[in-house]
Amino acid sequence: MARVYNFSAGPSVLPEAVLQQAAAEMMDYQGSGQSVMEMSHRSKVYDAIIKECEALLRQVMNIPEEYDVLFLQGGASSQFAMVPMNLMTGSGKADFVITGQWATKAQKEAARYGQANIVASSKDKTFSYIPKLDKSSFTPDADYFHICVNNTIYGTLFHELPDTGEVPLVGDISSCILSEPLDVSKFGLLYAGAQKNMAPAGLTVVIVKKSLVGKAMDITPTMFNYQTHTENGSMFNTPPCWCIYIAKLVLEWIRNQMGGLEEMGRYNREKAKILYDYLDESALFKGTVVKEDRSLMNVPFVTGDEEKDAAFVAAAAKAGFVNLKGHRSVGGMRASIYNAMPMEGVKALVDFMKAFEMENK
Ligand SMILES: *Cc1c(COP(=O)(O)O)cnc(C)c1O
Repeated sequence: MARVYNFSAGPSVLPEAVLQQAAAEMMDYQGSGQSVMEMSHRSKVYDAIIKECEALLRQVMNIPEEYDVLFLQGGASSQFAMVPMNLMTGSGKADFVITGQWATKAQKEAARYGQANIVASSKDKTFSYIPKLDKSSFTPDADYFHICVNNTIYGTLFHELPDTGEVPLVGDISSCILSEPLDVSKFGLLYAGAQKNMAPAGLTVVIVKKSLVGKAMDITPTMFNYQTHTENGSMFNTPPCWCIYIAKLVLEWIRNQMGGLEEMGRYNREKAKILYDYLDESALFKGTVVKEDRSLMNVPFVTGDEEKDAAFVAAAAKAGFVNLKGHRSVGGMRASIYNAMPMEGVKALVDFMKAFEMENK
């Protein structure tokens, strides 16, 4: 069996130990005689899985008691509407920092339901940096303040969170959830599509302060109201059962194999440093993001020559480094190095890049 090094931005690589355990339990989950895919979500055996998954997420992320954890569907993209429908009901205003396509989509969707102010943007330089924020531009009575914490396409990360005072901070953490410790208490709400760093596609995790739930707009569809799901333990309807099970295995892997989020973060920083250090010294490849805002998870880079970029992507794929083609809006390459990408994978990629550079001087 030959496994490639998969640098896909999402859906993306999962830990091999998790895939193996899922395979081993595929036909008969713990003596139940069924696959987790086949069992009733109301069964005792499944109830233990979803409860354990929530308990693990709370433990690993250190989520305070006053937050609800929801396992939903619809992707992070549904949250672009769900957040305003549930939260934009006081002043009807919210603030947005535009750091890429996902933040833009969140702002555009919110503008359908209220006043979605843009307080800063890095569009002028293809989102290659996190804009400096001026607190005097914030809306004091906003219902929330939205940021995309890690920008998957452009490879930037908010290394420091904005201080929004009393205004609840809302964070899209689709591509950085579980990558390093995060102070949940600084946020009113966090959401993530799980397919980047946590589970297969189909699961959306929402972590919401309980005090923010229960104020949805009247027009809010039942399924889009957080209260529907907080009151039913994410079991109002059929949850994405299989994805939640895999998320549980991933969380066990992070806690038991990787040593928790402090250690995971250390590992990810070391991994990213190997790649960034090489990009900084290479005469052929260079990173596209300003140094202080670099993501630990998504690393875009270019040669400056589209033909060379294409040749590199093709040669890399042949050598077993796949999904390195950059997003069409940035061009070049992007290596997504999520939790499950091992250190050896990044070292092997850098070795391959060095050899490619030697041959293409
Ligand atoms: C992938 C991604 C999304 C979209 O997620 P879906 O689950 O496909 O809707 C939104 N925000 C960020 C930061 C992402 O990386």
